[in-house]
Amino acid sequence: TLPTLEALVTLCKRRGFIFQSSEIYGGYAGFFDYGPLGAELKKNVKDAWWKAMVHERDEIVGLDSTIIMHPEIWKASGHVEGFNDPMVDCKESKKRYRADQLFFAPVRVDGNTIGYVSVEESGTMQAEAEEMAAEMKRKQAVQGTLEAIELKDYTEADPEEYELIPSPATGKPGSLTPPRQFNLMFETRVGPLADASGLSYLRPETAQGIFQNFKNVVDTGRVKIPFGIAQIGKAFRNEITPRNFIFRSREFEQMEIEYFIDPDEETWPRVYREWIDTCKEWLVSIGIPADMVGEDVHPAEKLSHYSKGTTDLTFTFPFGTQELWGIACRGNFDLTQHQKHSRKSMEFFDEGRKEKYIPHVVEPSLGVDRTILAVLTAAYCEDEVPNDKGAPEKRVLLKFHPKVAPFKVAVFPLLKNKPELVESARNLYKQLQRRWNVAWDVSGAIGRRYRRQDEIGTPYCVTIDFDTIEKDQCVTIRDRDTTEQVRIPLDEVEGWLNERIEG
Ligand code: ATP
Repeated sequence: TLPTLEALVTLCKRRGFIFQSSEIYGGYAGFFDYGPLGAELKKNVKDAWWKAMVHERDEIVGLDSTIIMHPEIWKASGHVEGFNDPMVDCKESKKRYRADQLFFAPVRVDGNTIGYVSVEESGTMQAEAEEMAAEMKRKQAVQGTLEAIELKDYTEADPEEYELIPSPATGKPGSLTPPRQFNLMFETRVGPLADASGLSYLRPETAQGIFQNFKNVVDTGRVKIPFGIAQIGKAFRNEITPRNFIFRSREFEQMEIEYFIDPDEETWPRVYREWIDTCKEWLVSIGIPADMVGEDVHPAEKLSHYSKGTTDLTFTFPFGTQELWGIACRGNFDLTQHQKHSRKSMEFFDEGRKEKYIPHVVEPSLGVDRTILAVLTAAYCEDEVPNDKGAPEKRVLLKFHPKVAPFKVAVFPLLKNKPELVESARNLYKQLQRRWNVAWDVSGAIGRRYRRQDEIGTPYCVTIDFDTIEKDQCVTIRDRDTTEQVRIPLDEVEGWLNERIEG
């Protein structure tokens, strides 16, 4: 069973994974901070991606470009003109909505429309809308049969209907403005002049940093088609309605690859399929169960003019199945645009084919924060295990894959006031720390210490006891998921862990 979003938010706050940004000032909508454990988790997710996509592949290289770039880039890419979401305002409550996330339904009785209901989210609404419609029928004392509710999003509203659809905040008709386009890019000023000449943007995606460096990488990197450029970094979008915790925020991180291929019409469908599979495999490799990942193929009529195909890998989040990773075939649109705007050639000379062309591109684009939310959702479990006295006790655990777990192992001396135990445990701790991030905990009963590590997803706990020192030079290693314990020689601990963590 899936955890609720609330359970995840609460655990993240309680154990120091994720905090609301600027919390002491009442928070700031759409911004989140990663605490001590969250910072480790995030680093591990990014490192795992970089290792699989850059280090373990011969034909992909890395890049780290700036967040603020020449503003012309965003004209070339189409973001200045078209990176918009439709927005509506409620004139009464001053609340803002994304029109395509706001729903309404005509209430029809025996074929006559007696009014409209509106609801804010498509998840809850069918039942809610039906209830509101029945209420409306009662109030108006209308006889007859209520017809099926058919929810549409607000962008599909007829201009004549704008004035009639009630605002979801106030319930009053006529309080919503018609939808208008809202550009999601954050603006900033570069340089000392206050006028428009310094107008610039925080990047809304990392991809354009890759395209504008295409020539640099080609000229210096000894790359041959096909090859990829990968980048991890911050992106900013002034989302109208940030929601669902770190799923949709205003500052987030992306892990993107532009994979350059030859323009041959036979090439892209194969590369596209390979990338969809590679992305899925990577999700599984960091502990996301394959059955929580789906494929949402965008229908041809919804694709932008230059796009040959887009598939989203979806994940079953606590609030529904939603996009996690977009894999898009963008043709040569971006490089062609940059060639046009910069007047620099973006052609690549293909040694094999002895010809020049502007390469096409397949773009897998993944959000770091959405991946973390997926990892947390998949890892969260509640079960019952025997406590120190053998009685069943509820526990919360995060079944992180060792690759992403903030701590790979915890080391405990059985008692904190026995210097021999503490010293021996401390030596092991220092030894293991050279390889991994290791937790140290001396306080409380061992059972309590296990519980604390379970809750933050540490896969193994090693305890040094009196037998370790006085008798057998062995330690107890306890497994987070099964709670089973094994006893192994102290000098084999590192090897034992290595097999399980890296293996
Ligand atoms: P949506 O339709 O949900 O707004 P999108 O289709 O605009 O998303 P893309 O532009 O394809 O998203 O961005 C690529 C990836 O970046 C997404 O799959 C997602 O993982 C991540 N992402 C995009 N917007 C956000 C955001 N506001 N907060 C967190 N991650 C995001």
